[in-house]
Amino acid sequence: MAEKKQIAIVGGGIAGLTTAYYLQKQIRAYRLDYEVKLFEASSHLGGKIDTLKKDGFLIERGPDSFLARKESASRLIHDIGMEKDLVRNNTGQSYILAGKKLHKMPKRAFMGVPTELKPFYQSRLLSTKAKARISVEPMLPKGKEAQDQSMGLFFRRRFGDELVENVLEPLLSGVYAGEIDELSLMATYPKFYEVEQQYGSVIKGLQATMPKPSKQKKDVKPPGAFLSLRNGLQSLVDGLEAKLDPGTVHLETSVDHIERKEDHYHLLLGNGEVFRADAAVLASPFFAVQRMLSQYDFMEQLKEMKATSVATVAMTFDASAIKKDIDGTGFVISRNSKYRITACTWTHKKWEGTTPEGKVMLRCYVGRPDDSGIVDLSDEEIVRIALKDLNKIMKIKSKPLFSVVSRWKKAMPQYVVGHLQRVANVRANMAINLPGVFLAGGSYDGIGIPDCIDSGEQAVQNVLAYLRE
Ligand code: FAD
Repeated sequence: MAEKKQIAIVGGGIAGLTTAYYLQKQIRAYRLDYEVKLFEASSHLGGKIDTLKKDGFLIERGPDSFLARKESASRLIHDIGMEKDLVRNNTGQSYILAGKKLHKMPKRAFMGVPTELKPFYQSRLLSTKAKARISVEPMLPKGKEAQDQSMGLFFRRRFGDELVENVLEPLLSGVYAGEIDELSLMATYPKFYEVEQQYGSVIKGLQATMPKPSKQKKDVKPPGAFLSLRNGLQSLVDGLEAKLDPGTVHLETSVDHIERKEDHYHLLLGNGEVFRADAAVLASPFFAVQRMLSQYDFMEQLKEMKATSVATVAMTFDASAIKKDIDGTGFVISRNSKYRITACTWTHKKWEGTTPEGKVMLRCYVGRPDDSGIVDLSDEEIVRIALKDLNKIMKIKSKPLFSVVSRWKKAMPQYVVGHLQRVANVRANMAINLPGVFLAGGSYDGIGIPDCIDSGEQAVQNVLAYLRE
């Protein structure tokens, strides 16, 4: 009997796990003679997804949710039978801290970009001059730029510097922990470029293409835009693992090097063994992939990519410790403000079931390209900095009951201008030099959890098509 074809998956984050799950689903459905092995360097699955339960609190050390409108994550959760566990965030006022004040996020904005000007005119987030500047956006000619450009350049041209610095930068580059003047528009939010080109104006384009706000009854809040799971995102990782065939996952087994042989590959493992694979999906971060395939010059392009380090700081309190509460779910911070935290979520208000009655959980972010050193400070120091910042606006009168600092080194890949082209070049070279080896995960096609799931699904299609050839 012919031996089964071996498919190796490198990395057990959400992208690698999705790949393994959907591959095995296909193998079972079509009785394919393939076998899947997943190699994970660390002692646990999930990668950046990591939920901690402590004293009745549910703490997300990494991501806390995913965008509901990107469907692949909910579909995966349905597929593994966990849809009953889906929970939506509570909506509430969100704020931007600019200068020394918290400002309500103006209504009718998409990622901070106005779809209507009136709420921005009414806000104190912008000076009179900046309000005048954004009001001319619908009249400006569309950009001539046909290639990629930075988000900063695009929005500064359309709306002026102040909207970019006070509103867009904290929101948009917050997602990527990146520098707005370096981040690629096409790799992050191409929709803005497309509407500008089609409608001549971003505001007009968003008005034409965004769903109209449904008429909400007074006092009825719109549904939240994010989803998570009742028992935390780690339960998705555990649910996926439980669906994999026994013997699929190999923990504490790094893949250090990959060599091409005649019609297969040798994966050199950290434990000294060699795994023979007919196809492989590399779902580990870009710098790990570059090291595995460092003999190929074209992989140098991945070396040019950067990644930012960030840390999350979850702090828990008795409700009575917060002397000046704010009615809302959180805030982001403009770079013009003298703060070192970059954002804060009032987790107890945003996510039901995460915080025991009578308690409060605040979760802050620190770390950005020009302040990555903060991530290397001690836990105590990071907590002290976060509390000092929070006290400027909230008045917290006692120390946290406990706090949890989670460091994420080189965790946020930077999609800088030219990212899509760089990734396309690498993939084109791989198709010639490494047929049957595919890239998946947050380094390439989107960093959100649903994007990583999409990339895993795409990798499944690629592997199956390759092995069928
Ligand atoms: P990873 O999760 O990085 O997994 C890669 C795996 O590969 C790791 O387990 C690693 O140990 C393993 N590995 C590395 N090298 C090797 C090797 N040589 N051999 C074998 N294994 C190896 N996204 C959202 O949608 N919503 C959010 O709220 C959100 N918040 C975030 C907050 C933080 C603090 C961070 C850091 C990210 C956040 N993201 C969020 C982004 C999202 O979490 C990630 O993009 C996504 O989880 C990445 O998944 P992945 O499978 O591509 O990679």
